[in-house]
Formats: sequence, structure tokens, C-alpha cells
Amino acid sequence: MANNSELTRLTAAELAAALTAGEVSAVDAAQAQLDRIAEVDGELHAFLATDAEASLAAARSIDERRAAGESLGALAGVPLAIKDVLVTTDMPSTSGSKILEGYRSPFDATAVAKARAAGLVNIGKTNMDEFAMGSSTENSAYGPTLNPWALDRVPGGSGGGSATAVAAFEAPLALGSDTGGSIRQPAALTGTVGAKPTYGGVSRYGAIALASSLDQIGPVARTVLDTALMHDVIVGHDPHDSTSLKHEWPSMAAAAREGAAGGSLNGLRVGVVKQLMLEGVQPGVKARFEESLALLTAQGAEIVEIDAPHFEYAVAAYYLILPAEASSNLAKYDSVRFGLRVTPDGAGTVENVMSATREVGFGAEVKRRIILGTYALSAGYYDAYYGSAQKVRTLIQRDFAQAFAQVDVIASPTAPTTAWQLGAHGGDPMQDYLNDATTIPANLAGIPGLSLPIGTAAEDGLPVGLQLLAPAYEDARLYRAGAAIEQLVTERDGSPFWAQAPSLVGGAARKAAN
Ligand code: GLN
Repeated sequence: MANNSELTRLTAAELAAALTAGEVSAVDAAQAQLDRIAEVDGELHAFLATDAEASLAAARSIDERRAAGESLGALAGVPLAIKDVLVTTDMPSTSGSKILEGYRSPFDATAVAKARAAGLVNIGKTNMDEFAMGSSTENSAYGPTLNPWALDRVPGGSGGGSATAVAAFEAPLALGSDTGGSIRQPAALTGTVGAKPTYGGVSRYGAIALASSLDQIGPVARTVLDTALMHDVIVGHDPHDSTSLKHEWPSMAAAAREGAAGGSLNGLRVGVVKQLMLEGVQPGVKARFEESLALLTAQGAEIVEIDAPHFEYAVAAYYLILPAEASSNLAKYDSVRFGLRVTPDGAGTVENVMSATREVGFGAEVKRRIILGTYALSAGYYDAYYGSAQKVRTLIQRDFAQAFAQVDVIASPTAPTTAWQLGAHGGDPMQDYLNDATTIPANLAGIPGLSLPIGTAAEDGLPVGLQLLAPAYEDARLYRAGAAIEQLVTERDGSPFWAQAPSLVGGAARKAAN
């Protein structure tokens, strides 16, 4: 049927339909993505690992099962890129760190196992900031990923690899993790769609832990419907994760289809939080956000201004809670059980080996957070720092509860800026941290969030994301509203947002031109 480049441009829903109809084989689909990766990833560096043999073998088995008349999942045969924070048996899992270089897991993360059971084909492991600490992928121990919209820009982080892979047609779908925005912010910066499910909606089993009370696994795609389809595959209770929710989840894909059919914005109460329209919001981001509110009101939605007084402390609270939990989670990289072991000359005592290994194996940001977290948890300071941060967390949860008594969803820019230039933050972590101000409150409260593209910023032509938030368990509401807004943006522009990127062919086109 279609040639390779046409295949890579199908949405997951379209590809799944072609697979079901027998017009395309899973092997063709996997091969098309592997070719695309070979074409552009030398420059983009979205992937840390691929294994053509493993991917093609998985695809072949799907084709055989289909040929044998087995009834397969809706996405069977669709290629999936997997953030390297999720452990997989078929490829290394490093979480972007040297301390786990070459590490092979003896088991698959639950989200991965569910994806495989549904017939999705692992096409490769994607780049990320080391242990998911960062907002640009520049903290990856393996070098940054580039933004396919502009190769001198970051793709956001920590899941910049998954977002770039999807934006640059290296994969139709990806998995990410969102602890403070790592799915939503890269989605915004690369013009893709990303969702952070309700905390506990998707199992964290086999997700290399950053901050366990905040971490959540979720989907990335080019359309809201594709994101919803992937969400449906990975959601659900898992006895291996004690925080996993027992809940009957409605179909997110059905909600997205309903939203796209129109009418669902009529009467929708949309909250705009004063404190999320931060002073530092880039003018072009603000303009697109306000334009999207106008699109909503034209469809009968009602905009309600919300006061959430404690949001201004969210970044400070997060950067105490996260390091505290991370310092404890990362204690397991002790040179004995996992990965790297460095033995210093002469004195190979346990302590010496451990400290030499952690000195070499961890990057600067990881060390900074371990030190910060250890300090915040130390006996004399526990109440003053960690304790206070937990109190702020409760106050933010109350702000959300009050807001959702008045509105159905909250809308904000996903990130205060578009993608910045590689190196622009010059290693100043505060600049990265402040970029998370819009995404962090949802993680502190455990509520679901969705980011979708709403246009480009006038000053730089780079993608702008709209963030929608809903109360816990109401993920479907986000897909319904998100798909409706996506439809309006497509009608306004005359084509889907993902089809508008000027330089999505990235490196290949540039190289060919030279
Ligand atoms: N940028 C945030 C941080 O550095 C988000 C991380 C995440 O969601 N994994 O902590």
C-alpha cells in the first residue's frame, strides 16, 4: 500500500486501521520507523537504543498471530517508542544515566508488558534527562536530543526523546513519565500531545523511580485520539504497585471521539488560574493561549477566573519533596546490585567503591538533588523543609478542590515559554526549575493533565501547548475537551498541527541540501 514515508506519517489510529484491514503488515510498519530513525536520528538523537532484530521479530509474531485469525488489540502492530525510564527485557534501560549504562532488566515494566500484550512493537528506548531530572534533555549522560522544529533548540524534558521521536515521525506513539511535567512540557515544546494520568492510574512498576509520590507514566502522540488510545492500553490496577488505583476507567478513546464529534464545549466551565498566568509568560505563548480561550467561548464554554493562592509556592515545595524522595530512591545505586562499579586504586573498601562509583556514575544535577534531598530530610531540618513542603502540598490540593467546585477543567499555557536554545540556561538549574511552574501543581495534587498544541508563537514560530487539568479520576474529561479543541485548531489552520512543522524532516533534509 503506502510507501515508507507515507507509513510514518499515519496517525496510530490510521495505521491500526490499515493493519486490521491487512493493507499493511506490522513488519512493514516497524521497518518504516526503523528506516526513518536511521534517516534522522543521527542528528536528532531521540533514541538511546534500538534493536532492529528484536523489533522486527516482535512485529513478525503479530503478523503471524493475525494471519492465524487471533483477535488482537486495537493497536496491535503499531510501533511504540519507550522512554528509557521504563525497564524492558529486550533493550538496555539506563534512565539516561551512566550508572546504568548497558543495564538489562530481567522483567518488563507493567506499562511495557501491557503494551506488548496489546500487540504494540517496541521500536526503541528514548533519551531523557538523567533519572528524569530536567526540563531540556541536556542532563542526559548521553548528550541532548534536538527539537525537530528547530535544531538549535531543546525539545523540553525530561522526556525530550519521546516527544521528538513522535514529532519527527520516528514513532507514532511513545511512553513517557511525568513527575513535574516531563510528559506535558516536552509535548508543548515539540508540538505533540502528552498526558499525565491521574496519580495511580497507570502502574509505576518497572518505572525507574524518581519521586514515588509524584511519578506517573503516560502516553505521547501526535493527536489527542492517539494519546487516548495509548492511555487505554496502559491504564488499570496492578498488584505490583501499592499506589495503583482500583477503578473502572471509561474508554479515553471513546471520550476523544465524542469530543472530536463536536458539541462538548458548550456549557463547559473552564477555569483560568491567575497564578498560572505568570509574569514570565512569553508574549507569543500568552497570545496563543488567549486565542484558544476565544475559540472555546465561541463554542459556548464559560471562562471563570480562579484564585489559587498557594500555587506560587509550588515550585519551592516540589524542589524539596522531589529531591527528598529522589535521594532515598537513588540510594539503591550502590555499585553492588545494579550497573556501574568503579574500584579505586588501593583501598577497595565498600565505602570507597560506593563513593567512587557514585562520583563517576551520577551527573551534576543528580548529585545536586541528592545533596539537597539528604539535607532536607536530615534530623535538624526535617520539619523546617520537608515538613513545610508537605504542608504546602496539602494547601495546593485544597486550592484545586476549591477550583473544581466552580469549574470542570482548568486551562493554562503548558509551559511559560517555547523551546529555548540549547545551552541557553547555561547550567543554571533555577531557569529550568521555573519552566515547570505551570505543570508542577498537578503532580503535587495527583490530578490528570493533558497538553495539546494550539499554534506557534509569533516571535519564534515554535509550538505552544495548552494544558488542561481535571479532578482526579476525570482523565476522560480531558480527552473529550482536548479533542474538541484540537478539532478547532485544525479547522482554523486548515491542517492538523503536526503536519505544519517546517523542519520536521530535520537533519536529513539539511544534510541533503549541503
Ligand atoms: N523538570 C522537572 C524536574 O526536573 C520534571 C521532571 C519530571 O517530570 N520527571 O524535576
